[in-house]
Amino acid sequence: MAEIELKHVSKIYEGGAAAVRDFSLDIHDREFVIFVGPSGCGKSTTLRMIAGLEDITEGELYVDGEYMNDVESCDRDMAMVFQNYALYPHMTVYENIAYSMKLKKVPKEERRKKVLETAKLLGIEELLDRKPKELSGGQKQRVAMGRAIVRRPKAFLMDEPLSNLDAKLRNQMRTEIRNLHKNLDTTFIYVTHDQTEAMTLGTKIVVMKDGVMQQVDTPSQLYDYP
Ligand code: ADP
Ligand code: ADP
Repeated sequence: MAEIELKHVSKIYEGGAAAVRDFSLDIHDREFVIFVGPSGCGKSTTLRMIAGLEDITEGELYVDGEYMNDVESCDRDMAMVFQNYALYPHMTVYENIAYSMKLKKVPKEERRKKVLETAKLLGIEELLDRKPKELSGGQKQRVAMGRAIVRRPKAFLMDEPLSNLDAKLRNQMRTEIRNLHKNLDTTFIYVTHDQTEAMTLGTKIVVMKDGVMQQVDTPSQLYDYP
């Protein structure tokens, strides 16, 4: 679980206009926060600054009270999945999920236990010996999620994770992601341009436009807007 604070954060890409302007938000433990808005409104940039994949131009970022502005202060115990899955093609599903623990020198037995536990949580126990090219889109995204959550990060970040899937699968995966949030002691932050996804998944919805936060509210309160 992570408490994340953004204070007057802006991002200006070199030679560009501000991608994100004066963005302030508190994200609390175990919340499911959604950044929603049209393409180009700064959702990914905000997520990437939280993840430490992008420098902050102005403002401050705190994670559990610790100042985290620099990309170098990188070990912020967060994990991210992307729209395109980004699995290691030469590794099996098992190895993809185990890899980060191997880098951290987690003992083999413990690795195995965690991989199996995570695979069960995502319903991919039968796929552990397959390579990514032998998986469907939905299966790949489950593996990508497994790889991200296996070490139980404080925050789990998702950037349009369902955009490449067909409508039926998206519905199913939405339910699975909601259940995952119930089952894990982890803060979820999720980027989407899809309002249905935002409304059905989030506990807190951040509506963005042109790099600026327009509204932040619970889904039920957003529905009440005129
Ligand atoms: P979204 O995720 O809402 O689609 P982004 O955060 O990706 O929006 O982009 C916000 C704005 O920043 C856009 O105008 C985009 O063109 C610009 N942008 C994003 N990444 C870069 C980059 N690496 N260099 C320059 N401009 C960028
Ligand atoms: P290493 O490369 O050191 O063997 P890994 O964490 O990648 O470390 O684990 C590979 C090991 O995991 C295999 O030797 C095997 O014992 C176990 N393993 C691989 N696939 C599966 C599977 N589908 N189910 C259970 N255990 C597996």
